[in-house]
Formats: sequence, structure tokens, C-alpha cells
Amino acid sequence: MNYFQYKDGVLCAEGVRLDVLAQKVGTPFYCYSSATLERHYKVFSGALPAGSLIAFSVKANGNLAVLKTLARLGAGADVVSGGELAKALAAGIPASKIVFSGVGKTRDEMRAALNAGIHQFNVESEPELVALNEVALAAGTRAPITLRVNPDVDAKTHAKITTGTAETKFGIPFAHAREVYAHAAALKGIEIVGVDVHIGSQLTDLEPFETAFKRVGELIVQLRADGHAITRLDLGGGLGVPYQHDNSPPPDPAAYGAMVTRVTRDFGCQLSFEPGRLIAANAGVLVSSVIYVKRGDAKTFLIIDAGMNDLIRPAMYDAHHEIAAVMEPAAGSPRPKYDVVGPVCETSDLFAADRALPELKSGDLVAILSAGAYGAVMAGDYNARPRAPEVLVAGEQWGIVRPRESHADLIAKDRIPDWLAG
Ligand SMILES: *Cc1c(COP(=O)(O)O)cnc(C)c1O
Repeated sequence: MNYFQYKDGVLCAEGVRLDVLAQKVGTPFYCYSSATLERHYKVFSGALPAGSLIAFSVKANGNLAVLKTLARLGAGADVVSGGELAKALAAGIPASKIVFSGVGKTRDEMRAALNAGIHQFNVESEPELVALNEVALAAGTRAPITLRVNPDVDAKTHAKITTGTAETKFGIPFAHAREVYAHAAALKGIEIVGVDVHIGSQLTDLEPFETAFKRVGELIVQLRADGHAITRLDLGGGLGVPYQHDNSPPPDPAAYGAMVTRVTRDFGCQLSFEPGRLIAANAGVLVSSVIYVKRGDAKTFLIIDAGMNDLIRPAMYDAHHEIAAVMEPAAGSPRPKYDVVGPVCETSDLFAADRALPELKSGDLVAILSAGAYGAVMAGDYNARPRAPEVLVAGEQWGIVRPRESHADLIAKDRIPDWLAG
């Protein structure tokens, strides 16, 4: 459920009209709803065993204002780079609630995280373990770690967001887990605290989660028998969200929470979770204007002012996003089919093919829905298109939480070397 609804014929974010916002900030722009972020966070946390840590996956939406909104509710952060660590700390998320994931942590990033005093490192390989040990010893401290184990479970999601099978770069294969834990236990700069697992994103079925979590439970028994103190279990993120309104919806957080509670009851671990999409996806939209309606022989193209540089999910993952007209169409009005495309010079700059939409003309506004996760964070300035601004709404209030880039900003990023100057 989200707080983007038509009111008096206009699509609104909570109490703010999107057409009015478009006039004030221009298009395209991202708009996030605080009430939706809060609701998703609370529904999820309410479904989990008491004492669970919810570490919001910053890579889904790293805007400081979004992070701060979640921090106020008690959220921690799951970060995958030194940059995300800096942003989480800047947003007021306590280091004690930050977990550091990712396959390629550098020594500089490790040092920064140790200095900050983060909750734990989710270590993904033996070389990383060795490097972290050296960094921790040099800093005169010990790094709290889990090992991210790879249970070889197919998450049955899009190939580009599956992470829990033996073919992906993520985690330590189950068969090697005990020997890597033994190695970790021998390292003086390492403190083993638990186990971590994350099998993929946009899962629409609980079964792969359950299979993975049960396998991890068996591993925990073995690891304890081997003498390791396993007190924490990080179950990652990955719960899917509805992108398509006519599809069978993914399992709700309550069903996920009930499954987790049942499966992990006897594990004796403090649980942590790393949801990203679940919290943020349906808390954001990308609002865009129609530039032209171009009638071809076979298709009618709706050319809008947002492009794949603003929202890359359709081009990268074949993702489906619902598209709504900002002005509510009259009931029973015609719905011609459009290919909704951006201005970027790439054939893959296509948001939707053969999509039935209300009749639209140049200047009309559309909202691309479910764009709050893996939207603005993945944006770039390809085709020298300045990055779109981000707006956060709370009730009747709104604020620009990241301004639009200007052409001057784009130009200022480049440098002319001496031999070309003058
Ligand atoms: C991407 C990622 C997440 C978040 O995934 P969602 O599908 O957005 O919930 C959590 N943990 C790790 C390690 C990730 O890489």
C-alpha cells in the first residue's frame, strides 16, 4: 500500500499534487512519500521477531533525507561501499546499526568502517578475511564478522538479481564454510559473531528463502559444534514488491515474518535483515512530461523527458513499471497503446512497449510508478542529461532533497589538460 492516489482528478503524493510539483521543480523529477516509507518499515518490523535489526539497504535509495526518515524509525543500514557508509553516518544512522556487505571491500573502506565502529562486516571471501584481519590488527582492534554463505538456492528471480547460486560471485560456497570459519577463528584481528545469507532480489515466492534459511540453520549447528560462537544471523533482503497491478502479488511481509519466526525459532540468534526494495520501491515515482507523440506505421511512440539515464531498470532488467497519467482520465475514456520511450539515443531507452494508456498529448504529465528503489541511485548523465532532482513529501509539506543538476554542473566535472588550454 502506498500514498500516491488521485484526489480531485490529480495524482498526489500524500497531500501534494504532482502537477503543482512539476510546475515548481520542472520535469523529470523523483518524488518520494515519507508516509509510505514509514508504513513499509513499520509493517516489516512488526512482522519480525522482537529485537531484530533492520538494516536498510542503502544501495536501493541512498538519499540522505530518505535515510534520515528511516533512521528516525530506528532503522540501521546495510552499506556496500565507503560512500554508502559515509552517507549512512551523515544521515544519523548509528554505526552500531550498520552492516557492511559486498564482494570488493577495499582496505581503505575497511579502515573507515572499523574507525566508525560498525555492527559487523559481512565477509564474502577468504582473501577479504585475510585483508580485514591485517587492517584490524594494524588499527589495534578486532573486526566483528559474519561470513556470507552461499546456500546454492535458486531464488527464481531475474538472472541479473540472483545471488545465491553457485555460479554467482557472491558469498562462500556452503561446502567450504566450515573451513573458512576455522581460518577466521585463527585470525587475531577477527571476531566471529555470526552467519549471513542473501540469495537475491525481487523474490516473489517464500520457498527459496525457507530452503536457504533452513540450510543455514543446519550450518549454525555444525559451526557451534566446531566451537564458534554464533550469536547473530543476517538474513539479507530480497523480498519482492508488486510492480504490476494485474499480477499475483508477492508474499506480504506478514507471511515472510511468520515464516522467518517459525524457521529460526530454535536458532538462538539475534536476527538482522537488509530490505531495500520492500521499503523504498513503492514509496517513489518518477514524474515526466510528454515531449512528443510520434505516430509511426506500426507504433505510436510517447516520447517523454525521462530516459534510461534517469531510470535504468527497464533497460537493464526488463523491469515492468506501471505508468499513470497525472491527470486522472475520465472513466471509460479510450486507452490507445503506446511505446513509452525516452530521448536517449539507444533502442533500449524504452519504458514500456504496447502499453495501454489514456490519450496523451505533448505537455501532459505521466508518473512512472514503483521507482523509489534502484531508481535515482542508478541514474547517470549519459547523453549529457543532467540528473533529475529528488523531492520528498510529508503530508502537505515537500522539499527538494537533491537539486537538479545544471549544464554548468556537467561541464564543471570535466577538466582541460595543459596542452589543450589556451
Ligand atoms: C541488494 C542487497 C540487498 C537489498 O536487496 P532488496 O532486494 O532491495 O531487498 C540486501 N543485502 C545485500 C547484500 C544486497 O546486495
